[in-house]
Amino acid sequence: MQDTTYELRRFVSTISGISPDHVEGLQKIGIETVADLIKHLPLRFEEHHGGVTIEEATVILGENERSPDLVTIEGEVAEIRPIRGWKRSKARVEVLLEDETGSLKINWFNQPWIAKKLHPDMRIRVHGSLSMYKGSVQMTNPRWEEIDGEECTTKVESGLCPVYPANELVSSTVISKLISEVLDEALPQIEDHFSIEERKKLAMPELREAYRMVHKPKEQNESKEGRRRIAYDELFLLQLGVMMKRHHRQTTLHAPSLRWDEKVKSRIEARIPFTLTESQQKVIGEIAHDVTNTVPMNRLLQGDVGSGKTVVALHAMLMAVVGDAQAALMAPTELLAEQHYGTIVEMLEGSSVSVGLLTSSLGAKDRKTLIEKVSNGELDIVVGTHALLTTDVVFSNIAVSIVDEQHRFGVHQRATLRNKRDDDKTVPHTLVMTATPIPRTLSLTIFGDLDVSTISGLPPGRSPITTRLVQPEDVSKVYSFFRERIDKGQQGYVVVPLVENTDSGMKAVLSHAKSLEQEYFNGKRVAFVHGRMKSEEREETMSAFREGNVDVLVATTVIEVGVDVANATMMVIEHADRFGLAQLHQLRGRVGRGELPGVCALIAAPTTNDAIERLNAIVETTDGFRIAEKDLEIRGPGELFGAKQSGIAPFKSARLPRDLELLRMARRNAVDYIQHDPLLKDAELLRKRLLSKYGESLGLGDVA
Ligand code: ADP
Ligand code: MG
Repeated sequence: MQDTTYELRRFVSTISGISPDHVEGLQKIGIETVADLIKHLPLRFEEHHGGVTIEEATVILGENERSPDLVTIEGEVAEIRPIRGWKRSKARVEVLLEDETGSLKINWFNQPWIAKKLHPDMRIRVHGSLSMYKGSVQMTNPRWEEIDGEECTTKVESGLCPVYPANELVSSTVISKLISEVLDEALPQIEDHFSIEERKKLAMPELREAYRMVHKPKEQNESKEGRRRIAYDELFLLQLGVMMKRHHRQTTLHAPSLRWDEKVKSRIEARIPFTLTESQQKVIGEIAHDVTNTVPMNRLLQGDVGSGKTVVALHAMLMAVVGDAQAALMAPTELLAEQHYGTIVEMLEGSSVSVGLLTSSLGAKDRKTLIEKVSNGELDIVVGTHALLTTDVVFSNIAVSIVDEQHRFGVHQRATLRNKRDDDKTVPHTLVMTATPIPRTLSLTIFGDLDVSTISGLPPGRSPITTRLVQPEDVSKVYSFFRERIDKGQQGYVVVPLVENTDSGMKAVLSHAKSLEQEYFNGKRVAFVHGRMKSEEREETMSAFREGNVDVLVATTVIEVGVDVANATMMVIEHADRFGLAQLHQLRGRVGRGELPGVCALIAAPTTNDAIERLNAIVETTDGFRIAEKDLEIRGPGELFGAKQSGIAPFKSARLPRDLELLRMARRNAVDYIQHDPLLKDAELLRKRLLSKYGESLGLGDVA
């Protein structure tokens, strides 16, 4: 066999003609090897007219003001004039390019360095689209390159030209050249993990052919066909991992089976101070069904802000306690853990259930005592933050583990709570709760291993929330209105982005609290909380607020989740354009939790399109599901729900929700695969690829 110069594993630095700058530029976009380079797919294709003369270019443009077609023109630089604009972004470099047929004006906006790189008499090739300006043909911001002295100036080929994601060190043109250099040798080395029969069933090309199609398509449709195969593989591999994990949980792992009968039911319900809604009862039924089984529960409980998830969690935990086992509830912030602890202690007052609170601000001595009680079984329920995950926290007998507000944690950072005597096959039943509903597309991907329960609607007796977007210059109206509500005995929140003043011009907790007190809330009790406070101090302020001894609470987003004070009816969010959509929804959910109607004022003068969209969405609807879908649309799935923290890289060529059909197909096929061959023993290559891609992030190491 012939020697292969460009083995897939070789570093790109060995490609002939590559410069150190290119290597660095590629590294910045995650490309180190020839294989990485091949996996770098074009964003789109451009239709090219090959090299044309300036005269021919004028003909192409014809009578049009501009033409979308791209042309390549070679010529000599005749004049270079840097022109300062009335503002920086309008600064431009004006160049006159000449060939034997005429001259062409070129403008490069906002790229002043180009003036330094060019010099008169230099031969360059420019590549861009044409327009007509004041009667002469022009080109604006074309790509360009110098024509080498030796290079013969033959005409550039016409056809489809790929445009690759690039950066300031390595251009799309260079990437295209590098790929052309290695492609022919690289392709035959690409092995397919699907057989011919499988490919036939999928109606998809062989993997190496798919890569050829995306880099060097003969026509636009080919590039789509190639992309479809590559996107499918991406989705399929993740589905396969998720299904493999699910299968492992269902067949290999086990959890204690808990009792659930009328007696247990009435004992637990006696502890709950209100009638459960139908929806709450339904999800409790689903959870109960799971935990009476020895297959570990892996369930997601989603319900909008204020829908009453906490009592459902308590219910599940009490099932463990009735079964002589322990339960834990993990919250993303100390504030929330403290509040859950308070709620639970209150509901369980007078019972024999013992409850503990473990956060990282617990002193060393108290901590030691507490984890002793955890490990000797003295505590039935432990509430805490991620401090619960520390290795020295070992339970005597935990049966139910609950994670609140999952999106704040990494997706797979759960179920690591351990028992003393456990082998690695015994795990607690896990319930994950979120107020950020998971759009269907995501529930099929990274959350594919979770069963989903949904609480729909809110408990009775809630009043609607009115949301208003207010320009910063009208802010005094908002605070005057706020003051009126306080005078009536109600309370409220003011959220700002910062703790302390910086020179960003944004409001900060400490100074804003002070100025509000002076300007609007004279004689009222204004207090503040933020994440950098000592937890005792914060807890003191929070309980003062809960008890109605504080009127206005100025805070950072520490109050984003869970804080529950029914008498608070006003929410003012300063610099609202700085917050994410889910975050705004959560913050707003702090009001309207009682019978008094809530008002949320968003103070902002948004400037970016994203911010405008976010604020419009939040004003238009209070439906958490619609907000989540909108959020997905604006931000894309990669950023949501701990997908980033989970270490799962965003898809490279699959796009959701666009590729939903492809995803469904991938899911069906993955289920099929795992049913027939759970450990992929007969699919060596697929297994290898799966483990190298998701082994770590999905925790497949001990599975396969
Ligand atoms: P979230 O789902 O946002 O965590 P919570 O569990 O904090 O919501 O519940 C919000 C409020 O609603 C709490 O004060 C809780 O006591 C109350 N609540 C929950 N369920 C009911 C119910 N069935 N009837 C009346 N109030 C309820
Ligand atoms: Mg909650």
